[in-house]
Amino acid sequence: MSNPLLAETELPLFSQIKPSHIQPAIKALLKENRQTTEALLASIQEYTFENLVWPLEILDDRLDSIWGLVSHLSSVQDSPELRSVYEALLPLMSDYYSEMGQHEPLYKAFLDIKNSRQYKDLNLSQQKIIENALRDFKLSGVSLDKEKRDRIKELNSELSELENKFEKNILDATDHWTLHITDSERLKGLSPHTLAITKAAGENSQKEGWLITLDYPTYDAIMRCAEDRELRKEVYRGYQTLASNQAPTQDWDNGPLMVEILNKKQELAELLGFKDYAEYSLVTRMLKSSKEVMDFLNEMVEHIQERANKDLEEIKAFALEEFQMKEVEAWDLRYLSESLREKRFSISEEDCRLYFSEKNVLEGLFTIAKELYGISIQEIRNFEGWHEGVKLFEVRDENNQLRGKFYIDLYARVHKRKGAWCGSCKTRAKKINGEIISPIAYIICNFRAKTEDEAEGLLSHDEVITLFHEFGHCLHDILTKVDYPSISGGNGVSWDAIELPSQLMEHWCWEKEAVDLISKHQTTGVCLPETLFLRLKKSKNFQIGLGLMRQLEFSLFDFELHLQRDIKEYSDIQAILDKVRVKTALIPPPTFNRFQNSFTHIFSGGYAAGYYSYLWSEVLSEDAYELFKRKREVFDQEVAKRFLKDILEQGGSREFMDLFVEFRGRKPDVKALLKSLDL
Ligand SMILES: [Zn+2]
Repeated sequence: MSNPLLAETELPLFSQIKPSHIQPAIKALLKENRQTTEALLASIQEYTFENLVWPLEILDDRLDSIWGLVSHLSSVQDSPELRSVYEALLPLMSDYYSEMGQHEPLYKAFLDIKNSRQYKDLNLSQQKIIENALRDFKLSGVSLDKEKRDRIKELNSELSELENKFEKNILDATDHWTLHITDSERLKGLSPHTLAITKAAGENSQKEGWLITLDYPTYDAIMRCAEDRELRKEVYRGYQTLASNQAPTQDWDNGPLMVEILNKKQELAELLGFKDYAEYSLVTRMLKSSKEVMDFLNEMVEHIQERANKDLEEIKAFALEEFQMKEVEAWDLRYLSESLREKRFSISEEDCRLYFSEKNVLEGLFTIAKELYGISIQEIRNFEGWHEGVKLFEVRDENNQLRGKFYIDLYARVHKRKGAWCGSCKTRAKKINGEIISPIAYIICNFRAKTEDEAEGLLSHDEVITLFHEFGHCLHDILTKVDYPSISGGNGVSWDAIELPSQLMEHWCWEKEAVDLISKHQTTGVCLPETLFLRLKKSKNFQIGLGLMRQLEFSLFDFELHLQRDIKEYSDIQAILDKVRVKTALIPPPTFNRFQNSFTHIFSGGYAAGYYSYLWSEVLSEDAYELFKRKREVFDQEVAKRFLKDILEQGGSREFMDLFVEFRGRKPDVKALLKSLDL
């Protein structure tokens, strides 16, 4: 029987893939890749890009995309069977990558090509692949002695297992936490939607009343709307102590894992000759030194401090006046901020939702993409997804050329990883025979699910922004014209620049002409009225000081943590966070707060010593958007075409700073961000 994971179909055969298919498929691929690599090395007289590098690109891409499919399933459809298969394969995958990274004959073959006369005739993309490969061989320890190389291999393998465990602990801790409520008084302030969802959760567990869970939409609704202060505190406590020793059960405490992860990363960095893990990470970034990163973050703190203090004073005054609240606690902030926002701008998130149905938002978003980049997006009906709610779309350009496809899976459900992300299912690649593999992406969100009464999902404006953001990543993956998978789409792009296409896309959520395209009231059919839009827009930077300070807290904590060379125990991590908070936390969080224990970005999501990327990309995106707004046209096609050509199509084919300078005419300037924040 053939294995559906290895089927050479354009789209993955989701309905046929069973956990039992995974091990045999991956093991067969690993074996085949190893054999083919050795055969290539042995059979070639003179190594060239065409006879070695290109075939290896295709070989690695196939493994990456099938392994990517397995990781994807483990994120959106977690089950005990899938989990055990995935965990068993993690070390094998890690060993394979270490082995290839430390493969001396392969390294020498790449060096040969670099030093050959042919090299200068290669195009920039081809040269970039060879340069990246030589850099990555060094970062894998290829030139070190055997003992060190073995240790690096061991560390990589252990890290991949620890990071996976970190993530699964959060998933389990989240799925196991519930709060049963029988007194409806406690739920005052919550929307009919939240009541319906929590009621349904109760019914599913055969419980009278309501069951509160810690999926993000429910947590968010309670923090913003629940009038019962004790309820907010309980739910805040549940969420902020997930996977920690402060949680009701210690079964999923991430604390010891965090210490281990940090120590292993430090050891890895040192073995490779770096002072600390931050220095090691920066080798592949746009910002090149720890000083540059810290200066940027500290400069931002200075710019924002005053505004954040003012925001807090405003909240405190409001709390006293409106709620006779003398002390504002961490679990009050969102509630107070939301109440003040509603009072000041007469905007409620629930009212806005009525304008943003899934269907209209998607249709409008696709029209915006067409206005800007000339692409047409059509839904594909007959396909196999991994869940009944999944949709599939195809993207064609002005010449009706297929550029790629993407899946979307928008709503929160159990056994689905928290957060929103865009992943790559297939990367654009040109096969040796000239055939183009067109890219396919996944857009995954955790939006508020619809109730039984609702015909389709209704999005808040925040959720609309998230969707635009992920769609921006998706365009980066799909519109690429690079032929070689290791540098096509988001691949090979400096991590601190990867958020530029996504954050840029968010801007159109704040332009009336664009909002007209995505909004349509559920009953009246009109788009978001001008008055409501203006109030929404005015509220854009409301309490931005506090919001940014929180982003800075995450960024500084992350970076300081990876500058440390000596983390002995969990309390050392807490001490670093506490030190950062002296600068950034205007309201000290309660002592039980362990947000860091579910900080997946840095402990399992690739943002280690890189959380600052969000802020840095914000600089890039504001600076880029200024060019879009120069003519005061919302859909400036001339600038959009340049962005398409200079950034989106280029993937990682050149240094990102060079691409940016080509598009913008100069290096990025922090002023555009400060201006957009009214600072
Ligand atoms: Zn993003």
